[in-house]
Amino acid sequence: MAYDVIIIGAGHNGLVAANYLAKAGKKVLVLERRNIPGGQLVSESLGDGFNNVDTLHASAQLRPDIVADLGLRIEAPRAGSAYTCLLDGGKRLTLDADPARASAAIREFSARDAERWPEFVTFMDRAAAFLDAAYRTPMPRLPHFALREGLPLAGLLWKLRRLGGRDMFRVVRAMSMSAEEFTGDWFESEALRAAVSALAIHGVTLGPMSAGTGYTLMHNWLNRGGLAHRPVAGGVGTITAALVEALIARGGEVRTSAEVRNVVVEHQRARGVCLASGEEITADCVISAADPRRTFLQLVGAAELPPEFVWQAQSIKLRGCVAKVHIATDGRHGLPDGTLAVAPSIRYLERAYDAAKYGEISAQPYLEVTMSGNIVSIHFQFAPYALRQADWEAARAVVAQRAIDTLDAQYPGFKASVQRTQVITARDLESNYGLSEGDLNHGQLILDQIFFMRPLPGWSKHATPIDGLYLCGSGVHGGGGISGASGRNAARSIVGDSR
Ligand SMILES: Cc1cc2nc3c(=O)[nH]c(=O)nc-3n(C[C@H](O)[C@H](O)[C@H](O)COP(=O)(O)OP(=O)(O)OC[C@H]3O[C@@H](n4cnc5c(N)ncnc54)[C@H](O)[C@@H]3O)c2cc1C
Repeated sequence: MAYDVIIIGAGHNGLVAANYLAKAGKKVLVLERRNIPGGQLVSESLGDGFNNVDTLHASAQLRPDIVADLGLRIEAPRAGSAYTCLLDGGKRLTLDADPARASAAIREFSARDAERWPEFVTFMDRAAAFLDAAYRTPMPRLPHFALREGLPLAGLLWKLRRLGGRDMFRVVRAMSMSAEEFTGDWFESEALRAAVSALAIHGVTLGPMSAGTGYTLMHNWLNRGGLAHRPVAGGVGTITAALVEALIARGGEVRTSAEVRNVVVEHQRARGVCLASGEEITADCVISAADPRRTFLQLVGAAELPPEFVWQAQSIKLRGCVAKVHIATDGRHGLPDGTLAVAPSIRYLERAYDAAKYGEISAQPYLEVTMSGNIVSIHFQFAPYALRQADWEAARAVVAQRAIDTLDAQYPGFKASVQRTQVITARDLESNYGLSEGDLNHGQLILDQIFFMRPLPGWSKHATPIDGLYLCGSGVHGGGGISGASGRNAARSIVGDSR
């Protein structure tokens, strides 16, 4: 059976793109290599008593306009819970979602910072709204673009101007600043600066002193809606289920356990795909939601692409550094509800990152912890994909041990509550979840890989050197995080092209 569109990968971006295209009347098939859809947006049973666990993402929110456009049956995210930073000597800094209550907690550390906190939250919300507008704006294909391609960018610059002189400069400067510098512009308390800087390095292989972590702070603030996670009732997998349900209602199809081996290319044009099983499926258009490097170098193949483009695709920086640890406890773990972060100082976070530079697992890691019943889930940084002098089987035990020891130092008795552990490493993210080098964002969110340079300079509009082949995952403009922006943008661009 022939389709109008085949989408490779049923992550949330692939499913968002599929829904928009099905809504536009296209006959769509989504092919997923795993036995369940969702990509990184999954609630799974991992065996050994780990049932309906939010395996990777602790929370997630699609953009409200996408939810409305697609008529998705998704519950609004719960109100943000508290974000508690665990400091040395058993001290705590609890930043409530309510700025007034957060200010009261900050006052114990600095009266000046407490005064500034509400203004900071307002600024971050405005900066995030601007970034959201940027992710909605198709980027021109620099350096050669038609005038009409530049118009949306002009509109975006106008939005930037409308932030007002002071906030406009703050946003522009923050893009290239480090989180250490940026938070230093606002606050004097080390505890507060570290609490905020932790969000800046969440999911990226950067330290708080790295240039560009001002940008990743705004990016993560946007996707999360602040510092703390907003848990999704029933688990993040309910969002995937709603996307699949809506697609099927629109006549689309999702096939799981259907790994695409290669894109079928004839005369520089995509004609369909060939599955690992050998089955060939034809379509007018193929969209890859897999990461760009995998798409170009594995699914298309260097022989079909211009040599310079191949070289550029090989240079896309992918650097996974995150491990996820799920711990089944006897329920007496002693941890409070909400989002907990082990980020006592900027130096601590930077040292945790230093380990990644040398291919080592952080001896004192940055942790972010969430709870669901008896299960404690830990986001662990840094455990780099490019590990030196160790094999990953041994490293898995090291990651679990360091996570447990670090939490036990904060909550004596935690270790005694531990019953079983499950560790997902950067290698597992590659082999099980299809992420090259275990990179969560399909390409690092660094200054030379964002906006009109994502995935590659000159290729920011979802098209590729192969006619009829497009990209829609997190590795393209709008991507990184759960938002659906890159899936929606790709679908709009394709519908526009087909017109
Ligand atoms: C623990 C964790 C924390 C994170 N925190 C943040 C954060 O704070 N901020 C942020 O911006 N981002 C964060 N992320 C990253 C974010 O989750 C991703 O950017 C997002 O989920 C990617 O969604 P996607 O739909 O683009 O791709 P994915 O969810 O990766 O989906 C791609 C799909 O393609 C499939 N696929 C690949 N190859 C093939 C093939 N050959 N055939 C068929 N199917 C294929 C894969 O199996 C997968 O299902 C985090 C991720 C994790 C894991």
